[in-house]
Amino acid sequence: MGIADDDIAKVRQSADIVKVVTEHIALRKVGRRWVGLCPFHNERSGSFSVNAEEGLYHCFGCKASGDTITFVREVEGLDFVGAVEKLAAMSGITLRYDNQKQGERRDRKKRLIEAIGQAVAFYHERLLSAPDAGPARAYLKSRGYDGETVRRYQLGWAPDAWDALAQSLSLSDRDLKDAGLGFVNRRGRQQDFFRARVLFPIYNIGGEPIGFGGRKMPDADGPKYRNTSDDCLVYDKSSTLYGLHWAKSDMVRAGDDGEAIICEGYTDVHGFAAVGFDRAVATCGTALTEEHIKILTRFAHRLVLAFDADEAGQSAAERIHQWETTYELDVRVADLPGGHDPGDLARTDPEGLRRAVDEAKPFLQFRVDRVLGGADLSSAEGRARAARAAVTVVRDHPSDLVRDDYLQRIADRCRVDVERLRKMADAPADDGPPPLEPNRPRRVERHRDTAEDEALRLLIQAPDEIRAGLHPVLFADERHRAAAMALLEADSVHQALAVVDPDLGDFIRSMAVADVDAEGEDLLARLVDLASQRMLDGLQAEARTADDPGSYAEPVAWLKHRMEDLRERDTRTKALDDLLPWLIEHGEERRP
Ligand SMILES: [Zn+2]
Repeated sequence: MGIADDDIAKVRQSADIVKVVTEHIALRKVGRRWVGLCPFHNERSGSFSVNAEEGLYHCFGCKASGDTITFVREVEGLDFVGAVEKLAAMSGITLRYDNQKQGERRDRKKRLIEAIGQAVAFYHERLLSAPDAGPARAYLKSRGYDGETVRRYQLGWAPDAWDALAQSLSLSDRDLKDAGLGFVNRRGRQQDFFRARVLFPIYNIGGEPIGFGGRKMPDADGPKYRNTSDDCLVYDKSSTLYGLHWAKSDMVRAGDDGEAIICEGYTDVHGFAAVGFDRAVATCGTALTEEHIKILTRFAHRLVLAFDADEAGQSAAERIHQWETTYELDVRVADLPGGHDPGDLARTDPEGLRRAVDEAKPFLQFRVDRVLGGADLSSAEGRARAARAAVTVVRDHPSDLVRDDYLQRIADRCRVDVERLRKMADAPADDGPPPLEPNRPRRVERHRDTAEDEALRLLIQAPDEIRAGLHPVLFADERHRAAAMALLEADSVHQALAVVDPDLGDFIRSMAVADVDAEGEDLLARLVDLASQRMLDGLQAEARTADDPGSYAEPVAWLKHRMEDLRERDTRTKALDDLLPWLIEHGEERRP
């Protein structure tokens, strides 16, 4: 973390979260908090809530959660330091970098990105006007690229030379390598990384160039694509999606929950744009990773796979079903006509390409159809074989409701008894993978507000009202107790957030932005009442099995008496004063 901690705290304090958020979405005031339509998922009701005093936000729909710095990072695709720098500029704060090295590293990264930008311009200019780029221009034209498209995507041509770029940029050896643009060869001279290739510049989510995909000419030797290597400083293929900075706004606009089209190549992204789909992204020469999925779920909850998902194999299929559950995704597959690339189809069959996306099938249906479509259903043996194979596919799905629905369809099409298929699906796997256990869904239904919720909300939003009387022992729920402990130990919400794990942090932020209308002493009385009841139940249960049940009579009677007092207005304060220390003392020793 390059910026001095004091300065980060200063930025956090002076940043006006409502002002920052309203640059992106409209907020209206409801009670103590502000609400609006979430910028991270598409919705019609406002699930996005902001606590202005603490500078925190939380979305009850998609669980996006954080402070002003997180918000700027997520919504503008910046890294931590970048977000702090932006907010500091807004508030007129001059930042000090506490670590000279970190500051230098950051400057260096900026410089490398600048160098890549110069390389984009250099290669692009070569493609547009250099005589040696003639064949590349002709090739692109044959693939449907006109001048305007070439300019829009800043396509380039790396000449068939050792060091054309290196000579033009004159970077240090180290910068050349760390920018992914070249290296020092065995004779100690700088050499370009790309040679005789058509180049597709790759941008990060914020639109900065970070690398290239290089395609060889059709008649040249070598691999079809060569990408900037992963060991340079600014490019990481497992978290990079080509086209995301163009596609992100369109994704959110499309459909209820946002839709992304995932394809494999740069030219596929361009093909989709040509037929009117601006929401396509491509993995850069790698299989789809969980990191990619996490990034996409910020913008879309329906993913249309526009590549042969079946060919990706069994393990990919299991992973995809798992992601569907974990991230509440709706994954579909576009059945591409003739199995062609989207890039080709955009030219040869644009209507078919559009239809394939509009009529994309749920992932599981696509796989089941594949199995049954390729089977011989005319004989009893063929149908039995097909049914067995299809059941194996269905078993991958974590939801038993979904599994059962598909088993019905398979039974109908293969004319077998569905009960037998159910048995087959439930049987321990001997010829297929076992069904996956459903993951706990990430977006759980908003649970009923409890006294424990209310207490945490009040503790954060109006600590004076409740903090003095509150103690972790009053919380039965483990997560609530952990949150209370962190909040009571810290001097501020932000101090607590700095030490808890991310899940607990999300939870605390959700409490910080939720409405609270309880009054401190009422709430404390409810909590003490509940805790006393738990203690009473415990004592009575123990007494039933104890050698000397008589010894329990006195504390049980005392507790019952205090609980009655607690429920009377006049005696409530006194009962609280009696019960609280008693609960703390006995609760601590009884806690497992
Ligand atoms: Zn949301």
